[in-house]
Amino acid sequence: MVSFVGAGPGAADLITLRGLRRIEAAGCIIYAGSLVNPALLADAKADCEIHNSAEMTLEEVVAVIEDAHRRGLAIVRLHTGDPSVYGAIREQMDALRARGIPFEVIPGVSSFCGAAAALEAEYTLPGISQSVVITRMAGRTPVPERESIRAFAAHRCSMAIFLSAGMLEALSRELIEGGYPPETPAALVYKASWPEEKIVHTTLAELSEAGRLSGIRKTALVLVGDFLGDRYDRSQLYHPDFSTEYRQAKGGMEG
Ligand code: SAH
Repeated sequence: MVSFVGAGPGAADLITLRGLRRIEAAGCIIYAGSLVNPALLADAKADCEIHNSAEMTLEEVVAVIEDAHRRGLAIVRLHTGDPSVYGAIREQMDALRARGIPFEVIPGVSSFCGAAAALEAEYTLPGISQSVVITRMAGRTPVPERESIRAFAAHRCSMAIFLSAGMLEALSRELIEGGYPPETPAALVYKASWPEEKIVHTTLAELSEAGRLSGIRKTALVLVGDFLGDRYDRSQLYHPDFSTEYRQAKGGMEG
């Protein structure tokens, strides 16, 4: 059995209980060494075989899994954040399906959630934005043209931009040309939830300079949108005048 496990954004105690139990029971762990906190491996059994996928191809990962599976070992494939976001798990799952190797997926706390927690921010502020776009700049991996940063910027919703901290100048240009005003708040969050976490508050116009001054070039998210500002409306859900399935409106109080 193979368990694809989301390791969370960094801090070792931000993995799920289920994920941790799979690590404790594993005979073989393949972890994404570039971003998964090695402290998580401390909970593995002493004789657990450990591989760093940063140095491996898909074929090599599948070969290690096949071999460990043949020997009856419980296998953990440990991905950073949540495996469904830029995790390249689909190709691994398809390879396992083709070989008849059973697997499960255990979600994790994605770094865009870790970054919001670090900022004490809410992506979906009433009156500001009710949508979050998770995307990236095109790099060596292309992004379909209809999903360009510019196209998404037209919505002026909350955005969490992965894998793009090394391209801040082009990124801010695309965002502004796409429709966000230059004074729109932005934040750079480096290594959310790690001890070396760094947060930089800036604006779209200043984004690239803020990146340069802080030296942040990778392992960071760029968050953009008015959800980082001061204005928002009160929620309906918790408003005294608003009835829900669980609570009758009380009336009387001003929002
Ligand atoms: N599956 C992961 C994303 C992997 S792609 C997740 O759900 O978070 C790798 C990119 O994720 C990095 O380039 C960076 O943009 C972002 N990232 C991962 N961990 C991060 C963290 N702790 N803080 C900020 N960004 C992070």
